[in-house]
Amino acid sequence: MAFSHIGILCSGGDSPGMNCAIRAVVRTALFHGIQVTGIKRGYAGLLRGEFMPMNLSSVGNIIQRGGTILQTSRSPEFMKPTFRKKAVDILKAQKIEALVVIGGDGSFNGAKLLWDEHQFPVIGIPGTIDNDISGTEYTIGFDTAVQTAIEAVDRIRDTAHSHARTFLVEVMGRNSAAIALKVGVCTGAENVLLPHEKVDHKKIVDDVQRGMARGKDSSIIIVAEGPTSGRSYEIQQILKDMYHMDTHVVILGHIQRGGSPESNDRFIASQMGNLAVEALRSDNFPSVTVVRSGKVLMAPLNECVTKADNNLVEYKTLAQTLSI
Ligand code: ADP
Repeated sequence: MAFSHIGILCSGGDSPGMNCAIRAVVRTALFHGIQVTGIKRGYAGLLRGEFMPMNLSSVGNIIQRGGTILQTSRSPEFMKPTFRKKAVDILKAQKIEALVVIGGDGSFNGAKLLWDEHQFPVIGIPGTIDNDISGTEYTIGFDTAVQTAIEAVDRIRDTAHSHARTFLVEVMGRNSAAIALKVGVCTGAENVLLPHEKVDHKKIVDDVQRGMARGKDSSIIIVAEGPTSGRSYEIQQILKDMYHMDTHVVILGHIQRGGSPESNDRFIASQMGNLAVEALRSDNFPSVTVVRSGKVLMAPLNECVTKADNNLVEYKTLAQTLSI
């Protein structure tokens, strides 16, 4: 099927590099004479008919900008079949023949239903700082978020060292451990607390004391946020009440989401955006642009609709070995 008009939207949490992917989709499509309509604010904007015609200059000067020029959202309505039917009717009324969705596994589940229920052609591009989508080794935004967190922890380390303190630094990632583990390895953290593991407070105290016994005067403990941010305060309280250990809490929060995408995110997003359009041109859908063995390629959408803790075992082993 030769497409002459496609739509593109971002859905779920934003991540640095989404703009690079939008730019690559728009430029590749226009190169092939395919019209592109940007859909603002994800599935919610689609249901409200928030359209934005895209031309070459719509995506000029955005490659370096974090966030997404199309904006993004979460849409509870889209979980219901009647609203997905409405979405397809709206797309067809606009003469949009295929949809590129940049987002996480939740957004891909929505896209999958557009295909399963209405045979509407869809392509996914993985965009989330959490690097937690099955079927791909990488999601756009992860490296930038990790780099932002590393820079913050390095600064905290300066203060921790000067004042001989222990810091609990909470990083984003929801249920994914990927950011916490990579930041832990890259900052030489003394401990990394994972989202799905029970906190062993005694071990934290033992590790810190062991470090002190051999002359260390500061400790950084990276805490993965888990489903809701703020769990570090609870850990801090228990360390104080049960072990009389004073710690300082820093929650990095949303500063990890924004910022200019670093080279890896720009490059992978550019490759993925380009490949997404090529996949549509060769009728390779429903599918997702993925990274496998370090290469950007297409995979069936079905393989990319669940959560995955990428690199958990390797990163965890490395973090533990290097923090003794
Ligand atoms: P992410 O895409 O980053 O995982 P969410 O899980 O919040 O983010 O999903 C983003 C949006 O995708 C949701 O607000 C909803 O509109 C849609 N979505 C998520 N899961 C489903 C589902 N199972 N069925 C239909 N739509 C879904």
